[in-house]
Amino acid sequence: PIAVGVLALQGGVVEHLNLLRKASAHIQSADNLQFTFNEVRTPPQLAQCDALILPGGESTTMAIVASRLGLLEPLRTFVKVQHKPVWGTCAGLVMLAEEAAATKQGGQELIGGLNVRVLRNRYGTQMQSFVAGLDLSFLGDSGKDDPFRAVFIRAPIVEKIITEGEVDGSKGSKVEVLGVFRAEGQQARLEQGGEAEKGDIVAVRQGNVFGTSFHPELTNDIRIHVWWLRQVVDALGHGK
Ligand code: GLN
Repeated sequence: PIAVGVLALQGGVVEHLNLLRKASAHIQSADNLQFTFNEVRTPPQLAQCDALILPGGESTTMAIVASRLGLLEPLRTFVKVQHKPVWGTCAGLVMLAEEAAATKQGGQELIGGLNVRVLRNRYGTQMQSFVAGLDLSFLGDSGKDDPFRAVFIRAPIVEKIITEGEVDGSKGSKVEVLGVFRAEGQQARLEQGGEAEKGDIVAVRQGNVFGTSFHPELTNDIRIHVWWLRQVVDALGHGK
């Protein structure tokens, strides 16, 4: 079986596991593949995984707990040396960035893997959370015809793609922008400024590393989980 882990230090773990199970049913029946889904809290549990989700939550807390459990270096190896498929949602995206813009919380440990700088809490506080329809063309036709209802909770955005050579790349792959949010009608949430008219980058991929600003696991929409599991299958060479 393909072992998929969810980093379970803090945050939306159960939600991801539930949606992964639902999503995998679509893939198993089509391709006769087997998956296991496991919570990851220790380096040996991480070593069992073929792929990993870093959930939403609070990235500073996650980093502190990961460091205490001796997981930070194994996570960096998993992402940047072993190049195993990883997906970070929200706080998970922050963890996967090479840089996080200075915030009043100050510096924090990151895993890295995405050559990007994130801006945390782009749209304000928890109270300013919102849902927005996104056109996600990487989902194929369904992404265009049926906007993905994306949940933004103190969400980070990718504010800068760091050009090649500035940091260690993930297999030298380029950062692909897979989702943009145009904050029309969201002006009240944009007090921090930025270039909202161009659109905020809210989904990126670089080689094995995928990140979203929003939380598909807080919806019943399995499309991104199905898409990601297919990426995992292909990356592991189980695809046709
Ligand atoms: N603002 C949080 C952070 O920077 C992320 C919020 C979330 O994951 N919903 O870690």
